Amino acid sequence: MSSFVTRFAPSPTGYLHLGHAFSALLAFDAAREAGGRFLLRLEDIDRTRCKPAFEAAIFEDLAWLGLEWETPVRRQSDHFEDYRNALVRLKGKNVVYRCFKTRKEIADEIARAPHLGADGPEGPQYTGTPLSKDEESDRIDSGAAFAWRLSLARARDALGGDFSSLSFTEERRGGRGETGTINATPEIFGDPVIARKDYGTSYHIAAVYDDALQGVTHVIRGEDLFPATHLHRLLQALLDLPTPVYRHHRLVTDETGKRFAKRDRSVTLRALRESGETPADIRRRLGAASGV
Ligand code: GLU
Repeated sequence: MSSFVTRFAPSPTGYLHLGHAFSALLAFDAAREAGGRFLLRLEDIDRTRCKPAFEAAIFEDLAWLGLEWETPVRRQSDHFEDYRNALVRLKGKNVVYRCFKTRKEIADEIARAPHLGADGPEGPQYTGTPLSKDEESDRIDSGAAFAWRLSLARARDALGGDFSSLSFTEERRGGRGETGTINATPEIFGDPVIARKDYGTSYHIAAVYDDALQGVTHVIRGEDLFPATHLHRLLQALLDLPTPVYRHHRLVTDETGKRFAKRDRSVTLRALRESGETPADIRRRLGAASGV
């Protein structure tokens, strides 16, 4: 078996649709072609949006499609401790700070000073202001909720000259045709939230941590996540984790060019299956979409 390891990492927040099938099949086929391994990972840290019924449906739909994956399947909600420890390491490097602001407060602040909020991949490129130790203690004592933001300025200081040379390899392409060696520009996020108020971590920490833990060599996923890779590369550097190769694929769209979303019932794999389509039909439908 080769050293190639890839994964499909859905979030059980709805039924899988054609877009997921495309991503899962690309990863599965790539592992087969390389004589490598294919993993399934459940990204279910958002406990309010993820549902057991959707998790069960993921297993059922992927098996129906003809995919086989290794067991046990890593379920992120069983590993919050790991992600907390990763955050502790970032705290140890002094690159994170508490942010007590509500969305509304941030929106008001940006309305007053629009230069604070240029568009970033996850909303405004907001850079917060760490509070003094005393102010922070007062807020904590009063029970105020906070998120942890990654300070790009402090990350730059922590990494020194290495910061500007961070890069990753893109073997397919990002949404704007980015391919080859990509210079990482995590500053497009401002100071991103990397541990949310509600569940104490983030997709970014969990995905980066798990890709390293599971020895993933190739991340195959939709181009909507290409911008996140800039931040993932920085987190890898700060957490001393290896950087996989990336293959972002284009998103499957309907005939009007609109990408599928979980709310589009008609293209869920179960709806297609119930209407009599076979896994071969699904592969045929997606075949046309499989170009880079
Ligand atoms: N869980 C993410 C999603 O369902 C995929 C994350 C990834 O592949 O890195 O969109």
